[in-house]
Amino acid sequence: MGNTSTCYRCLKERSKADFIQRVDDRHYGMCRHCLSEILTLRASGKRRLPHTDTHRICYLCRRVLAASEFTRRSNGTYFSACKECNRHVFAQRRRARLLQAEGEYTLREWLDLLAQHPHCPGCRRLWADIPLSKGRKTAVTVDHIIPVSKGGRNSIENLQPLCFSCNSRKSNKITDQAGKDGPDR
Ligand SMILES: [Zn+2]
Ligand SMILES: [Zn+2]
Ligand SMILES: [Zn+2]
Repeated sequence: MGNTSTCYRCLKERSKADFIQRVDDRHYGMCRHCLSEILTLRASGKRRLPHTDTHRICYLCRRVLAASEFTRRSNGTYFSACKECNRHVFAQRRRARLLQAEGEYTLREWLDLLAQHPHCPGCRRLWADIPLSKGRKTAVTVDHIIPVSKGGRNSIENLQPLCFSCNSRKSNKITDQAGKDGPDR
């Protein structure tokens, strides 16, 4: 393995510190230079991707690639991400699913844990005081203290109840910090 990895987008060999394990839910296996390039392109506001008969632009990596680099559905339309991006994203999802399967908790354990938390540990509001958005029946969500994507287990020791707004705030924060603590293997 060594201390370097090759970015599949720019094909440069870079130090592992240049890779972000979990950038967001979509960009895996690419270096941070590529990611910032993509974000700049995205921010420049070009919404419509100019596909041609022979070439297409991948919505994830923003590379212009031959149409053969995209999977074609039986109805003739193409996937919007190139084969390589799909491969990386799916590999990551598979990994996350496998981790998810490791360790389990029972409903009983969860209810016991919930009973120890009369309010959200994030914002200290009582569960009943948290206004619910439309279609939501409870403010409580299951939070993995160490995210599954970072190797956290799906077992009761790694769980806490968190209200939905604290939970979504937390996942943003994890994305922000992902660059600082570097790759986890
Ligand atoms: Zn790169
Ligand atoms: Zn791509
Ligand atoms: Zn909260």
